[in-house]
Amino acid sequence: MQFHDSMISLVGNTPLVKLRSVTSGIQATVLAKVEYFNPGGSVKDRIALRMIEAAERSGELRPGGTIVEPTSGNTGVGLAIVAQQKGYKCVFVCPDKVSTDKINVLRAYGAEVVVCPTAVDPDHPDSYYNVSDRLVREIPDAWKPDQYSNPNNPLSHYETTGPELWEQTDGRITHFVAGIGTGGTVSGTGRYLKEVSADRASGPVRIVGADPEGSVYSGGSGRPYLVEGVGEDFWPTAYDRTVTDEIVAVSDKDSFQMTRRLAKEEGLLVGGSCGMAVAAALKVAQGLGPDDVVVVLLPDSGRGYLSKIFNDEWMNDYGFLEHTGGAATVGDVL
Ligand code: PMP
Repeated sequence: MQFHDSMISLVGNTPLVKLRSVTSGIQATVLAKVEYFNPGGSVKDRIALRMIEAAERSGELRPGGTIVEPTSGNTGVGLAIVAQQKGYKCVFVCPDKVSTDKINVLRAYGAEVVVCPTAVDPDHPDSYYNVSDRLVREIPDAWKPDQYSNPNNPLSHYETTGPELWEQTDGRITHFVAGIGTGGTVSGTGRYLKEVSADRASGPVRIVGADPEGSVYSGGSGRPYLVEGVGEDFWPTAYDRTVTDEIVAVSDKDSFQMTRRLAKEEGLLVGGSCGMAVAAALKVAQGLGPDDVVVVLLPDSGRGYLSKIFNDEWMNDYGFLEHTGGAATVGDVL
């Protein structure tokens, strides 16, 4: 019989798929690491598993304990799946601007979701930050993973994503491109790839971070942007800035237009941070030759964004459907 013991053993080992259409005119091979094949539908399953197992080993998470994390998205789903399979409870804290669909997904997996007002100061007792800290103090056997500072976030990528890419490309990967949110993906995967390729005749793998225009990683102040899951207004410790060789800033418009092209032309219904990362990867690939192998990581599926990126009305309200004159990497989506 062939079966998996639980959904947990399906985390990681995601496929690499060649981008064939959005790459027209580019000589390098551009491969996408499609993370929606993880059981929770995103790259965050990797960090959820590693953070929970490390906390079990250290004793921070005791049998029957409760995981408390301020998250509304992919990290919550990953934690909820691993937690239910291992017998832990989950309480997620999220701001009231989060869509009910996202909250319902977390509840469907058995998590409790506490919704906090967005329109209060971070110091207010009802703020999203303060409520999660209070819950950690009040709930017996509570543990907060804190993906922004937890070293097991980048370590999960150092131990899984990096080795997978080295093996899948037979050591031929020349560039790795990933969006930066907590920074865990780019730091952990990048560190592994640089170490393993350090003595290669063609030189080490070049690590490129993709960032929404306005975020701190590309020199901004954290100005609002609409791409979800990436960019920050502070520097998390999960991000090791010595690993990235280059940061490419991408506008919301270019990110979302590329996201739509990936669905329409490559059969990849993926999220907005994926379009952002691919736009950055194509910018990098444009100057490269036929021996170069660029890998771009696509964090999640497009299902969570149907009413935004894949909705013409929403896109039009922001002017994102207007033709982008002259941008060679972003084509006509109208
Ligand atoms: N895209 C999406 C949709 C995400 O949820 C995240 C995680 N915040 C990222 C990209 C960035 O990954 P990381 O936190 O590892 O930098």
